[in-house]
Amino acid sequence: MDVKIFQFNGCNKCFNESLLLKLDSEYNVEFISEPKKWKEEKIETAVITGYVLPTDKELLSKIRSKANKVIAYGSCTVSGGVFALANQHGHEITPLKGLIDDIIEIEGCLGEVNELKSVINGEELMKPKKLCDLCTRRATCEYLDKVHRQIELEDEETCFNDLGFLCNGFVSRECKERCIDYNTPCRGCKQLVERPGIRMLGMFGTLMGNIEVATEHSVKGATDKLADEDDDVTRSLPDIIGNFFRFTLTTSGLPKGRIPSSGTLLEDLFTGRLIEELPLITGLLGGDKSISFTLKIIESYEKANQIEISEQTRKYREDLLKLEEKLHEAIEKEDAKQYKEITEEIRQIAGNMNLSNVFFGGFKSKINEEDNFEEYKTQIFEVVEGTYKNGSVEYSIDSEGIIKEIKIREG
Ligand code: SF4
Ligand code: SF4
Ligand code: SF4
Repeated sequence: MDVKIFQFNGCNKCFNESLLLKLDSEYNVEFISEPKKWKEEKIETAVITGYVLPTDKELLSKIRSKANKVIAYGSCTVSGGVFALANQHGHEITPLKGLIDDIIEIEGCLGEVNELKSVINGEELMKPKKLCDLCTRRATCEYLDKVHRQIELEDEETCFNDLGFLCNGFVSRECKERCIDYNTPCRGCKQLVERPGIRMLGMFGTLMGNIEVATEHSVKGATDKLADEDDDVTRSLPDIIGNFFRFTLTTSGLPKGRIPSSGTLLEDLFTGRLIEELPLITGLLGGDKSISFTLKIIESYEKANQIEISEQTRKYREDLLKLEEKLHEAIEKEDAKQYKEITEEIRQIAGNMNLSNVFFGGFKSKINEEDNFEEYKTQIFEVVEGTYKNGSVEYSIDSEGIIKEIKIREG
């Protein structure tokens, strides 16, 4: 069975993950990293990875007309994924189905190769289970007195939302990467319901029943109006778009963003995000450089704010960087077996390919059974306004920990 994988824009992690198809001898896989150079020819199955723009429509239409089957693989292609947060600043990342018809969608950040195989083979995908049903944490749905942007890691039983720590698991389906297993809340890359961001906002808003909302009176004289000023609700959730609509902004029904662009598309998508969410975003979209990119962001902040890290943390981080080098070799050689082994080793330390376990000050969950977790356990860190620089990355945060400016040079 002939399968051609096309990488369009942005992160190449889904493109690389599709290397795993080569482990199955029934597929004849070709990787096309520069779609513009593709020689037009008949295709049995075309797989599109990366985000797409209206300017890609002509080429995508050619692929569509030549292929028996077209699959959008990964959240970027399906909905614009995390990159579409740049649409707040006027960019036009578009779901693939907005540019061509008759496609099959496999969402997920990272896209799951088993689902890709099923779809290539023409099989029905299994009916999805709810992520919460598979989570070891349990919801009580008590009203919250406070919302937290970081939590102590002591409680491993209570639902993050009941700890006041937003988790989109309520509106998500089961996944392979399972951020939730590494003390990281779900940000909803595999949606269970239509318009998950709006629903989650409603649910979390309900939980916030005990939190003060600023109201004022309108001309009618009653306190019948939400006030313009900040209150405990708005202060607790400074980035609603980035946290509730991380993967679904283009399909949310929300109006197009009107914030002026302040840099490249990549820089625009980071502006307005929260410092504690940065590793979760760089871990997703950094492609085959996710590890070094994430560690650059983390280490610049740690260094400037004298956040001590242990020898064991340093060692695990060095191991991850070495694994990233090896991963490049495997990708270069299109060696699927080596790719599989290395990604398994990365998962052992980083939790998953989204690097959910990697954080400021250490790691969020135990890596090896025999380890003393206290030696490398991350702690709640303080938000410190300032500018942080490390090699090709420089970013500034305000006193709330919101990214005001970021510069990312290639490399
Ligand atoms: S950002 Fe996520 S969905 Fe997009 S290509 Fe990377 S891993 Fe895949
Ligand atoms: S919302 Fe998140 S933490 Fe809570 S049960 Fe669901 S997946 Fe687990
Ligand atoms: S836990 Fe992580 S990988 Fe799974 S659906 Fe949520 S964001 Fe996606």
